[in-house]
Amino acid sequence: MSSHGWHALYPYQVANAQGGLALCPANPQQAVNSWNAYAINQVAAQQAVNPQAGLAPQAATFHPAATFHQANATNVTLAAQIAQMLNSTFNLAAVQVPAVPPVPQHFPDSNKIVVCVVCGGLIKPTVPSALADRGSSRVRKDWMHAAVLVKALPEFDEWSKRASRSRQSLNAGDKLLQELHVTEFHGSARHFFVRELPGKVAINTDDQEIAIPAHTACLDVVRVFCNYQGKFNFNFRASDGGAPSSMAHFYEIWRNRALATCLHGGIMRRPIKEPNDGYLGAPALQFKDLVGYAEVWQKSWQLRRFEACPIFNPVVITKVILSKLSTMDGKSRKPDPVAAEAWARTQALPVEICDLVLLAMEPFESRANPMSLTPTRALPNKWWKDSLMSGCLIPWLWDLDSEEVAKHERLACRDEEDWDWELLCRRLAQPQLVHPGGKLHGFIHLWNRRRIWKLLDLARLGHVTFGH
Ligand SMILES: [Zn+2]
Repeated sequence: MSSHGWHALYPYQVANAQGGLALCPANPQQAVNSWNAYAINQVAAQQAVNPQAGLAPQAATFHPAATFHQANATNVTLAAQIAQMLNSTFNLAAVQVPAVPPVPQHFPDSNKIVVCVVCGGLIKPTVPSALADRGSSRVRKDWMHAAVLVKALPEFDEWSKRASRSRQSLNAGDKLLQELHVTEFHGSARHFFVRELPGKVAINTDDQEIAIPAHTACLDVVRVFCNYQGKFNFNFRASDGGAPSSMAHFYEIWRNRALATCLHGGIMRRPIKEPNDGYLGAPALQFKDLVGYAEVWQKSWQLRRFEACPIFNPVVITKVILSKLSTMDGKSRKPDPVAAEAWARTQALPVEICDLVLLAMEPFESRANPMSLTPTRALPNKWWKDSLMSGCLIPWLWDLDSEEVAKHERLACRDEEDWDWELLCRRLAQPQLVHPGGKLHGFIHLWNRRRIWKLLDLARLGHVTFGH
């Protein structure tokens, strides 16, 4: 299938690069049906006149979009004819739209895939590519266009070698990194333009201070993750695989992955690989170029959850979480005897040790077995609420809005002990939470955020996947 010959045809709009024709039907499905009926008749007529030209329609198998083929340059005359025929035959209002200039072809690499090293999603080109709408020269920007190149300063490597022999301040390495903000990206690892440097920047594995691509939003998640991890005092270089807790740690991990992906050196020719099922199943790595990606994207809603921005309005997130909060009405507040005794003994210990016991509950999840959904009531609901709202228990929900919670309690005329915060925390700790059957299934932004957080949690220095 040619990259330029096929265009999605939406029921509410038809346009081509040269002329311009738009449908404004009352019923989009009617337009799809009508268009296909028309197109099937029309192709026979066109081919009778000129076998090389005209439209070759495809069956409208994927609703809501049908597709058609602009085999040769269709023209304004044909568009006008179609408009007239649609008006008379199907009684659809057809209007002329301003002509869209042809797609410029100055960007030969615009369909080459580069992915964010955090989420595995596309770094979208800021110039026309197969992702642009129906060959339009206009690029509708979203969060996946906003990218940063993380690049080391020359002193980074020396610091990294010293750091392997001594414990240093976590942030010392971060100061030896620079973030280059991408202003334009023309596709492939060769064509990045950044605010901070003149000319192009490439992702070159021969460069000791290799530039690593990531979405701006994903780097924000990395910063929150590092901030959370910092309190656990992990040894990143432990022989059994320590966890990263700073941007410098992640840079070392990403650089290793880039070098392993591109064993022959030079400018990266393929997306940076990730060892945990390829960014936990991120689809961009499975396509040769953006043409294939764009075709499947039109048909598959599965792909779209990978494109859901992990950072969005905290009030909305809070409303979603509060919708899973139940009241204590009709429930026993009596603590489980075993848990109550354990808590009583813990409280009798010196305060530092008691704090360590509570710290061991963070994050509130278990990789081995799902957390029990039965509350013990050993700790008050206020403790569960405070621990959730501070981002300690469920750290990937770091931005819950306390104002929104206060409003929720006020409207119901209840205080915090009247809500089952313990049960809510246990629900949010379930491994299936964002998957089918889970309490937050269907919230694709939270699904993607949870996936990204898990990827960061799984990252280790020695884990790489080799390319060829
Ligand atoms: Zn990303």
